Amino acid sequence: MTDEILPAVAGEILTGEAALSIAGRDWGNLIHARPGLVVRPASVTDVAVVLRFAAARGLPVAARGAGHSPYGQGLAEGGIVLDMTSLPPHRVVTGDLVSVDAGARWREVLETTLPHGLTPPVLTDYLELTVAGTLVVGGIGGATHQYGTQTDGVVELEVVTGTGEVLTCSRDTDAELFDAVLGGLGQCGVITRVTLRLIPAPARARRWKLYYDSLPAFLADQRAVVVDGRFDYVEGQLIPDGDGWRYMLEAVAYYTPPEEPDEAALLDSLGFGESEVEDTTYFGFLNRMADGEAALRAEGSWFHPHQWLNVFLTDDTVEQIVAETLAATGEAELGATGLILLYPVRNDRLKTPLFSVPPGEISWLFSPLRTGSPDDPLHNARLLELNVDLHRKARERGGKVYPSNALPMSTEDWRAHFGAVWPKLAEAKARYAPGNLLNPGQRLRVP
Ligand SMILES: Cc1cc2nc3c(=O)[nH]c(=O)nc-3n(C[C@H](O)[C@H](O)[C@H](O)COP(=O)(O)OP(=O)(O)OC[C@H]3O[C@@H](n4cnc5c(N)ncnc54)[C@H](O)[C@@H]3O)c2cc1C
Repeated sequence: MTDEILPAVAGEILTGEAALSIAGRDWGNLIHARPGLVVRPASVTDVAVVLRFAAARGLPVAARGAGHSPYGQGLAEGGIVLDMTSLPPHRVVTGDLVSVDAGARWREVLETTLPHGLTPPVLTDYLELTVAGTLVVGGIGGATHQYGTQTDGVVELEVVTGTGEVLTCSRDTDAELFDAVLGGLGQCGVITRVTLRLIPAPARARRWKLYYDSLPAFLADQRAVVVDGRFDYVEGQLIPDGDGWRYMLEAVAYYTPPEEPDEAALLDSLGFGESEVEDTTYFGFLNRMADGEAALRAEGSWFHPHQWLNVFLTDDTVEQIVAETLAATGEAELGATGLILLYPVRNDRLKTPLFSVPPGEISWLFSPLRTGSPDDPLHNARLLELNVDLHRKARERGGKVYPSNALPMSTEDWRAHFGAVWPKLAEAKARYAPGNLLNPGQRLRVP
């Protein structure tokens, strides 16, 4: 590839060992695939130049955000990686909208909007992910039961198609492209700019951790508070406890003094045992992973393989599948720093056509987030196999994936996952990014 000279770009072209090595791996640290070169675009024009160059030569191209994918989703072996974090910061609040460069991290979006008293309605648990990196998978968090996914808050996108055309799309203009990009795994174009709708930001967050010894009681309370919507944020964790498990319902009420959350009303009729409560600033709550990240980096396991799996289960099957999975999970299956999340979302809040969940009133995000070994490939392969088995079981019982996983998905798996909306994605991919060259790490190919 490098015998052919890439036309001049205003940004940087990197071919050194360090840059190729970084762009050849991701946070999952399970798939390694070095590109031929890395481009750090300085503008949307640079992105278009690279995509046209690559399309003409049949070269794979991957856009890279924060590189926090678990299984090579943002890699392009022998091709070109576009480092989207190099786009010049563009962060402008106008009324209740914010326009940002696609490589902005959610923390940077908040740092832009909070001084205006505004916030995106839904944030991921971790704020160092890029806006575009999450919008191509959906973007889910504890506020999803109220406001849907992060994709549901998008008003407009600037996209460079796989053939290098720069287009602006929204629900009213070029809706076919808009709908194929949000939750579309980066298969139709590279997002360069995003306009998001904002809501008023609260000043503070009061967070309850409510502990249960019984899985059915925990599920019943989670289901109840998500359906009645009494909290602003609801998630949950399954915590190893001796030979068994404890279940933690994590619920948050946002508020701005002098108003105060009504604790008695919020906790009314819930059957938890122990509880903890803490009160922080709104940003302090949203940025709660920062200290944990620093500790895991210092201790080293942040850099270990991560066999993360996120599946959506139906309301009918959640209890059985979770109980079976927990019965077969010990420290060996989870890793010392692994964790398991479980929380419901309301399906009627989910409006993004490609965001696929099981049918019913609610779906349950079940996420065994395993940490593997830095030096035991057999163990790592076994953890991956556990993901394959759980995915198969979930799917046989009506489940779906949340599409950011350490899982060897095939085109057939994607076809089954997207179901009725698959033809729209496949047609848009063939039209906007023909040749299966764009973001090939998602392992989704069309004729
Ligand atoms: C610690 C941690 C916590 C997480 N918490 C949450 C959470 O709470 N909620 C949630 O929903 N997800 C969560 N995730 C998953 C995360 O949202 C996805 O893995 C996301 O895709 C990663 O974003 P990124 O910026 O790192 O993108 P990358 O890993 O760099 O890229 C992801 C995919 O997007 C493509 N892509 C990147 N930029 C662009 C672009 N500009 N245009 C088109 N395609 C592009 C890439 O090619 C790749 O296919 C978490 C992940 C981690 C590691």
